[in-house]
Amino acid sequence: MSKLLIVGTVAFDAIETPFGKTDKILGGSAPYIGLSASQFNVESAIVSVVGGDFPDEYLQLLSHHNIDISAVEIIPTGKTFFWSGRYHNDMNTRDTLSTELNVLSDFQPVVPDNFKDSSVVVLGNLHPLVQSSVLDQVVNKNALVILDTMNFWMENTLEDLLQVIKRVDILTINDEEARQLTNESSLVVAARKIYTMGPKYVVIKKGEHGALLFNKENVFFAPALPLEEVFDPTGAGDTFAGGFAGYLTKTNDFSFENMKKAVIYGSALASFCVEKFGTERMCHLDSKEVFRRLQLFKNLTQFDIELT
Ligand code: AMP
Repeated sequence: MSKLLIVGTVAFDAIETPFGKTDKILGGSAPYIGLSASQFNVESAIVSVVGGDFPDEYLQLLSHHNIDISAVEIIPTGKTFFWSGRYHNDMNTRDTLSTELNVLSDFQPVVPDNFKDSSVVVLGNLHPLVQSSVLDQVVNKNALVILDTMNFWMENTLEDLLQVIKRVDILTINDEEARQLTNESSLVVAARKIYTMGPKYVVIKKGEHGALLFNKENVFFAPALPLEEVFDPTGAGDTFAGGFAGYLTKTNDFSFENMKKAVIYGSALASFCVEKFGTERMCHLDSKEVFRRLQLFKNLTQFDIELT
């Protein structure tokens, strides 16, 4: 069976949206990626770190979704990575109020032996040196490597980030960050510039406006499902990446045609994530609901047109 290796933050998040506010709840890039990918019943593992303040029930929750958590290191005397953010009324933009790296500051990741041959590796959003170190330990040289990042790392660790970007196949990034990374306002030009940095494929996430998949020859667009209620967009980008990677792991087909389907799966799963605060919706999601939503996506995007 193909395996999926995930590295990312496991965090406490405090979130404010126009609909409410949460105290410290389960967050971080890795849980969103893992929970989303768990819909595909692939073997997956998270490499990350938490402090002694992190509730065991959160780790068990991940484990109950068949995610191997043996490589989530616990530093008993340390504090878990903490992020807080506040969304604007449009729910598409947010301000980061605080990022406390805590135990992430000197984290040395160790990839479990049985995941060194993973066929897909997601270098989720966290310190680029940690992403590089995970990649150093992967022995499958044909592994598909997907990297996600955000403005925080561009602003604080750009050189390290550029080094790891050189080594990956696919960069997933949001529109604002693609512009920041490349200094280009056109996303098409930004994607073209990103190929020169290393990746052969670029996925640009545009929140409620969908996602674009590029390689040198092709471009594909998937809309986001128009939803009546968006409660909390936190983790939607990671959920997208988890669905995208989970589908590719399950099918083991890394062609552009199959990546188009992976984008649809990623978008469908992200549309659930935003319906409740934090990871709550992703923790209680069954395959029938996913199937129905994929049907909605199909109806939304299918049209017949006679081109003469
Ligand atoms: P997204 O909404 O997809 O960008 O992901 C939000 C998640 O990313 C939250 O659960 C945060 O804990 C996590 N996060 C926020 N800032 C960072 C950062 N600088 N590095 C890694 N993860 C982060």
